[in-house]
Amino acid sequence: MSQYWSKVVHGLTPYVPGEQPKMNDMIKLNTNENPYPPSPKALAAIQQAASEDLRLYPAPNADQLKQAIADYHHVTPQQIFVGNSSDEVLAHTFLALLKHDLPILFPDITYSFYPVYCGLYEIAFQTVPLRDDFSLHIADYLRPNGGVIFPNPNAPTGRLLALEEIERLLMATPDSMVVVDEAYIDFGGTSAIALVHTYPNLLVIQTLSKARSLAGLRVGFAIGHPDLIMALERVKNSFNSYPLDRLAIAGASAAFADVAYFKQTCAAVIATRTELVASLEELGFDVVPSSANFVFMRHPQHDARTLQAYLRSQAIIVRHFNQARINQHLRVTIGTDEQCRQLVLVLREYLQRQQSFAS
Ligand SMILES: *Cc1c(COP(=O)(O)O)cnc(C)c1O
Repeated sequence: MSQYWSKVVHGLTPYVPGEQPKMNDMIKLNTNENPYPPSPKALAAIQQAASEDLRLYPAPNADQLKQAIADYHHVTPQQIFVGNSSDEVLAHTFLALLKHDLPILFPDITYSFYPVYCGLYEIAFQTVPLRDDFSLHIADYLRPNGGVIFPNPNAPTGRLLALEEIERLLMATPDSMVVVDEAYIDFGGTSAIALVHTYPNLLVIQTLSKARSLAGLRVGFAIGHPDLIMALERVKNSFNSYPLDRLAIAGASAAFADVAYFKQTCAAVIATRTELVASLEELGFDVVPSSANFVFMRHPQHDARTLQAYLRSQAIIVRHFNQARINQHLRVTIGTDEQCRQLVLVLREYLQRQQSFAS
């Protein structure tokens, strides 16, 4: 703390990102990165963009990337906003579209950045409890509000909400924004993007960090009615006109064009998840049904923090949230088959040892 800090800074409660350990020999299953490398075509495009042209500013509207996303998602570039990560797109969304008189609504268990943005932009919010099985029910959101935002699948639970339910909310609250954060949608859900043509109050946000293996490039985007996109552009151009650099525009565009690679890596993650869930359930874990590239689980007989610490001692990092209702859960990113086999092996040995102590 310092006398030079602004009042705003004194009042902030910043987001705490998952650990990025220095050691390379760790099995890192704590921040939902993709275990597979980015598309070779994306890497080649980035290498090609690393040229003397870096002397020049990038295209302020990243038109090449907007076109690549438009082609993939069958929308027009006017329906697309791009930003330096979906976290940045989310931040602009909170200021541009979720700051109204009434409090906004989001689940009590969700992406922990949402309340942080509310703090930064002084946006009132109310949390809506998920049901006991961590399912989200649209009926709980049918009341006057300044907007609704949730991830689908939700984080850190991995539970998917059916598209019909999202449409039910859009129809019931035409005067409120509905923002769906689809960071994990490609691992087993159906995107709500098809609904933006019908519902002018829907904004869908996606990222290249998870399903397209580009967390290090920092690219995210939003799709919605051109009027919503215009609001985001107004905020962006009041903040940073060039949020995406030349390497990011080139790499992200090429990643979108390489559909075959994208489908192949998503399918691999999904197959590994199916196998991992079966193994974990065999070990006695309760695993929340996941449509994401992570699983959320607890063991009825073992404290989550103790398990996390043990895994860490065995060079496996997973995420624990010190929060009411979920402090006995662990969130585990789907790694490669080999990484997941090692995880199961370490857990099995630990549980067997504990059992032999107890008997
Ligand atoms: C990972 C994640 C993001 C952030 O993605 P970036 O584009 O890397 O900033 C946004 N929302 C949710 C729910 C996430 O899990």
